[in-house]
Amino acid sequence: MARDTGAKCRKCRRAGEKLFLKGDRCGTPKCAVTRRAYAPGVHGKKPGGRGSSEYGLQLAAKQKLKRVYGVLEKQFRKHFDDIKHKKGITGDLLLARLEMRLDNVIYRTGLAASRAQARQLVNHGLIAVDGKKMTIPSCEMKVGQTAGINPNKSGKNYFKNLEPALKNKNDFPAWLTFDTVSGTAKITAIPNKNEIGVNVDAQIIVEYYSR
Ligand code: SF4
Repeated sequence: MARDTGAKCRKCRRAGEKLFLKGDRCGTPKCAVTRRAYAPGVHGKKPGGRGSSEYGLQLAAKQKLKRVYGVLEKQFRKHFDDIKHKKGITGDLLLARLEMRLDNVIYRTGLAASRAQARQLVNHGLIAVDGKKMTIPSCEMKVGQTAGINPNKSGKNYFKNLEPALKNKNDFPAWLTFDTVSGTAKITAIPNKNEIGVNVDAQIIVEYYSR
C-alpha cells in the first residue's frame, strides 16, 4: 500500500501549527514548529505566505486534514466519496469517517504514539477487530465494535512496556471505552466534530471537492 514518506515536521511548518505526527517528540523543545516557526523553503519567512484566496484556503484545509490523518489523496478522496451522499452535514461526516479509521482508533487508545505508528501496528498484524486479526489501517470501525491488541500478540514486549502508561492514561475520547487489562477499545458512539480536536473547517473541503 502506498504511504506518505514526506518529511513530517515540514508538513506542520507548512500548516503553521503542530499536527502531532511524530509521537513523543512533538511535546518536546525539539519540535520543529517550536524551533522554526515559519513555513519551510527559501521563501518561508516572507510575510503573507500562501493560500489567502478562497481556493487557497480550501486547498490548505484539505492538505492539513490529509496530513493529520496520514492519508494520501486517492484514499482521502475515497473517504469523501464514501460519505458524500449520506444524510447529515458532509464536513462533519468526513471528519467522523477519518476518526473512525482503525489506525486512528488505535492512536486514540494510546497503543501507539502517532497515527503512523498505529498504522505500522495494524500492518504487522498486532491489532485485532472484534477479536480477529485485522491488517487494514483504513478499515472503518462501527459503533459496537472492538479494536485493540491482537490476543495472540499480547505477550510482545512492546505491549508489556506500554502497560504502566496505559494504566495512567485518562484522556480517552468520549466515543470509546478502553479496557486496560485486555488493551481493547469499544466504540460507543460516532465521534462528534467537537470531540475530534482537529482545528480544521471540513466544510470548506467539501466546497473544494464540489468545484
Ligand atoms: Fe509536527 Fe511533531 Fe515535528 Fe513538531 S515534532 S513539527 S508537532 S511532527
